[in-house]
Amino acid sequence: MPPVLDVRGLQKTYTGHGRDVEAVRNLTFAIRQGELVCIVGPSGAGKTTLLRCIAGLLPMTAGEVILDGKRVTEPPPGMAVVFQEYGRSLFPWLTVRQNVELPLKEKGLPRAERRAKVDAALEAVGLADSAGSHPWQLSGGMQQRVAIARAVAYEPSVLLMDEPFAAVDAQTRADLEDLVRSLWRQLGVTVLFVTHDIDEAVYLGERVLVLTNRPTVVMADVAIDLPVDRDQLETRASTRFAELRHDVYGLIQEAKAGKRPEQELP
Ligand code: ADP
Repeated sequence: MPPVLDVRGLQKTYTGHGRDVEAVRNLTFAIRQGELVCIVGPSGAGKTTLLRCIAGLLPMTAGEVILDGKRVTEPPPGMAVVFQEYGRSLFPWLTVRQNVELPLKEKGLPRAERRAKVDAALEAVGLADSAGSHPWQLSGGMQQRVAIARAVAYEPSVLLMDEPFAAVDAQTRADLEDLVRSLWRQLGVTVLFVTHDIDEAVYLGERVLVLTNRPTVVMADVAIDLPVDRDQLETRASTRFAELRHDVYGLIQEAKAGKRPEQELP
């Protein structure tokens, strides 16, 4: 089966202000349907740049992104993105239900189908009782749940998540991580999750792509062979988790020290 998302030789150089910045040199990786992949890299490695290029929000300098067999040149219909700034991603004048329903209206789904999908998504994120509330009546964690419900209700080919839990407290963050795992298992969504947090990447992912620092390439593609059932206390306290965390941490340190993957070296 062809990958659902194929990133080939993606390169991005920011130009202007008299100085060019080569943010991403060559990113090549593929994601198959139903995978949960995390991307982790040092700050400034180009994670946000990569994600914006994949989402069709930023033109790339070279390379291509293929989603569902089609080249991405603008925000593609098969993609949904959850950003860190939940406060700015929901419409404050719409209710929770209306926020989740909006992209389904744009998709042209009939009313009854929209209603069923919104109900199922709100149920899946534990917000069935808040459908009539407005975002500003909810906590940050709940608002991020609304953004996640909106994304899964849309049934995207790929759900992109850009450091989505960086702005919430630790307990909420743990709950939201478990929510992503449970949605992935229940609904079979394909997830690409970008984070600078090594522990989060290892806990969440089935695969972790480690980026070098700028100009960025993929340093390593680490398979996370932890059990499918994960638990914030037990999994994080397990020997295998510690080993994987150690490996990824080591790779990031090497990347920070300027080491590049072998195929990059002349
Ligand atoms: P990350 O998300 O991993 O922290 P970014 O994608 O935000 O990394 O940034 C990667 C590099 O590109 C950084 O060196 C940053 O300074 C540079 N950069 C990001 N946006 C711009 C821009 N609009 N113009 C020039 N340089 C930029």
